[in-house]
Amino acid sequence: MTDLEVQAAEFDAADPLAACRERFLLGDEVAYLDGNSLGRPLAVTADALARFTREDWGGRLIRAWDEQWVALPTELGDRLAAVLLGAAPGQTLVGDSTSVLLYKLARAAVDAAPADRDEIVLSDDDFPTDRYLLEGIAAETGRTLRWIPTDHAGGVSVEQAAAAVGPRTALVVLSHVTYRSGHLADAVTITQVAHAAGAPVLWDLCHSVGSVPIDLDGWGADLAVGCTYKYLGGGPGAPAFAYVAARHHGVLRQPVQGWFGRRDPFAMAAGYDPAPGIRQFLSGTPPVLATVPLQVGLDLYAEVGIDAVRAKSVALTEFAVASADALGLELASPRDPQRRGGHVTIRHPDAKALVAALWERGVIPDYRAPDGIRVGLAPLSTSFAEVAAGFGVLAGLMPTS
Ligand SMILES: *Cc1c(COP(=O)(O)O)cnc(C)c1O
Repeated sequence: MTDLEVQAAEFDAADPLAACRERFLLGDEVAYLDGNSLGRPLAVTADALARFTREDWGGRLIRAWDEQWVALPTELGDRLAAVLLGAAPGQTLVGDSTSVLLYKLARAAVDAAPADRDEIVLSDDDFPTDRYLLEGIAAETGRTLRWIPTDHAGGVSVEQAAAAVGPRTALVVLSHVTYRSGHLADAVTITQVAHAAGAPVLWDLCHSVGSVPIDLDGWGADLAVGCTYKYLGGGPGAPAFAYVAARHHGVLRQPVQGWFGRRDPFAMAAGYDPAPGIRQFLSGTPPVLATVPLQVGLDLYAEVGIDAVRAKSVALTEFAVASADALGLELASPRDPQRRGGHVTIRHPDAKALVAALWERGVIPDYRAPDGIRVGLAPLSTSFAEVAAGFGVLAGLMPTS
């Protein structure tokens, strides 16, 4: 065994969450290092989907809408809020995709801003869909984008956010954990800085939910969206979630005013009359079937608790950083674990070819253009031995000096 493998075996033996890994469906891959992009399924997910098909759908048919599904988007939102978001009930819903929810919330916030607040503040290195959607909203509403120039190996600092916001800010949109470097933003301070300038903040939680603690109510957050198919194991294309702080209900109006966001949708009445509370942010029929894996994923998070998950996540990223250092590789992520989420990125000029070679050998990280090898470490399903195996294969691909 190499030094890394010996160390990994020690860490796995001491890991209080080690047994969680056995609950996932593990394939024949050597190392799955992309659980931050598409989480592995839990074994119980297959049973839950079969049971749902037989009992809820097949057994209750249309009656299940009244019995449980109409309430599902907000009931499941409340559960997610309690387990992972630090949010009181009545402020979170599950449905649509992250892109669609981001559009709905950002557009509502920009529309509610006074006309002289004509700037939307965002990072020039945010996830593409965030940038594209805000470009579209700026064009639709006659606002301009104020880009915060962001280091690919870092993220937006409090100082940068403070310098970008002011009396012209309509909305600030930032990722809590950036998709590229894994930088963890100081969400509470940035929210305070934006509020001091009179602007609301929309937090994108896609890469933080399920890997780092989130305290939306405690931050005084205004708006948030996030994915469920990354760390939460919701499955490919699983619906996203949105949070709107209670103080904004009845004030913000979202633009996709479908029947599910109307007061008493089954009255089928004339004219759109927004539902009270968070339900106004619904649009159409919720994706009930697609929420089944998320429900079992949340059960595991509720059982384990996010603090234990974060502790394992930090240990995994520390181990990955040490493994990269041992190979002399350049880290393109924060070194300080306090400023880092659940993944790390390594910069290498041959990143694209290296990732292709790794995939051929059963080691599955992500390539992120132009030169990033992104190593995702899903705390509930990734073992230290798996990380060591992945870096072992990478070491074999490096030219020996
Ligand atoms: C993954 C991710 C998304 C994905 O949006 P979809 O609508 O699910 O495609 C959006 N924003 C960030 C920051 C992400 O990491």
